[in-house]
Amino acid sequence: MSRLLDRLQGEIDALDAQSLRRRRQIAETACAPLQTLTLAGSSAARTMLCFSSNDYLGLAAHPALAKAWAEGAALYGTGSGGSHLILGHSRAHAQLEETLAGWMSPFIPEARSLFFCTGYMANLAVLSALGGADAVIFSESLNHASLIDGARLAKARVERYAHCDVAALDAQLAACDAPVKLIVSDAVFSMDGNIAPVTALLALAEKHDAWLVIDDAHGFGVLGDTGRGVPEALGLHSQRLVLVGTLGKAAGVSGAFVAAHRTVIDYLVQRARPYIFTTAAPPAVAHALLASLALIGGEEGAQRRAQLKERIAQLRLGLEAVLPADGGARLPQSPTAIQPLIVGDNARAMLTMAQLDARGLRVGAIRPPTVPAGTARLRIALSASHTEADVARLVDALGETLASQQLTEAA
Ligand SMILES: *Cc1c(COP(=O)(O)O)cnc(C)c1O
Repeated sequence: MSRLLDRLQGEIDALDAQSLRRRRQIAETACAPLQTLTLAGSSAARTMLCFSSNDYLGLAAHPALAKAWAEGAALYGTGSGGSHLILGHSRAHAQLEETLAGWMSPFIPEARSLFFCTGYMANLAVLSALGGADAVIFSESLNHASLIDGARLAKARVERYAHCDVAALDAQLAACDAPVKLIVSDAVFSMDGNIAPVTALLALAEKHDAWLVIDDAHGFGVLGDTGRGVPEALGLHSQRLVLVGTLGKAAGVSGAFVAAHRTVIDYLVQRARPYIFTTAAPPAVAHALLASLALIGGEEGAQRRAQLKERIAQLRLGLEAVLPADGGARLPQSPTAIQPLIVGDNARAMLTMAQLDARGLRVGAIRPPTVPAGTARLRIALSASHTEADVARLVDALGETLASQQLTEAA
C-alpha cells in the first residue's frame, strides 16, 4: 500500500515544485463581490473583494431565487426520486424545458430542450450520443475540458482544429468523407473570453453537411438583448445547431440544457447515457431556474447586462493604462465578463495572485494544463454586482503590483 501511496505523493510533490499544485479555499458566505473566505493553509477567514466567480449577473445569491428554491422544495420535496426516464422527471423540469425551447426557437427551427444536472454531463451526452463510430468530431483546440472528455467518450474519430482557424477547418472538413461530421466549439472561450467565429462555423456546417455543437456556458444570460447568448447576439438560425447552455453561471443556480431540433432531443433521450443513467436534479432546482429565466429575460436582466458592460469597459480602459511597457503582461481582446491578464509563467501568475491576496483582492490564477504552457494568467471575471469602486480598486492594485514586479526584475 505504501508504495502506491508514495507514487501519488511523488506526483503531488512534483506539481508543487512547478507551482501547479491546486488548493481549495472555503467560502463562508454566499457568492458576491465581497465574500468571506478561508484560504488554503490559513485558519482565519477573511473578507475579500472577489473577481473569480462565474456569477456574471450577480444572481447566485438573489433573494427571489432563494425564495423560488424554497417554494420548489415545498412543492416537490428535496429529491427527484429517480432518473428522468423512471420517475424523476417532474412538472418543474418539464416547464423549464418548455421555456428554454421557446427561448431558443428563434434560432433553431422546431426547437426542443433537455435539462441536465451539469454542463459537464450535457457535453458528455451530446458528443457521445451524436459522435457514433461512423462520425468525425472536429474539435476546436481551446475547447473546454468537458467537450474534450465528451469527444473521448464518443466512438467517433477526433480531429482538432487550430483556435478560430475557419480556413483550416474548411480544409479538414473537405478532406473528410465520414457520413456524420460534428463541429464542436465553445461559443465564448472560458479562459480567454473571446467569442468563436460561430457564424462562419455555421456556414461551414451548411457547406459540409455537418452538425454544429456550440457550448455557450459563458454567453447564456450575458450576451444578446434578452440574454439568450451567442445565438441571439449573432442572429444564428439553423436546424444544424445543437446548443449547450449552462445554468450554474450567469443563471445563478445549477444545471445545463441542450437545445436542438426536436428529433435530436428525442434521440438524446433514447441514447445519451449521461442523461439516462443518473438521478434527475432536484425539481426545486428547475423551479428556481424558472425564476432565474424570468429575471434574465426581463427588465432586471437587461439592467444587469448593461451594468456588466460598463464594468467591462472600465476595467479594460483602466488596465490598458497600467500594463507594463515591457509586455510582461497583456490583456487580449475580450468583449465578455471574462478578462484574461496573461503574465506567462506559472510562478509569476501565483506571485501576482498572492500580492493581490495581500491587498484583500481575489483573482484566480490559471495555469497549465487548463491553459497552454507559457500562458499562465489571472482570469478576471466581472459581475453585474461589482461596483465602479470595486473595479477601480482592482485596477489600482494590479497597476502597483505589476510595477513593483518590474522594479524587482530590474534590481
Ligand atoms: C463551466 C463550463 C462547463 C461545465 O458546466 P457545469 O455546469 O459547471 O458542469 C462546460 N463548458 C464550458 C465552456 C464551461 O465553462
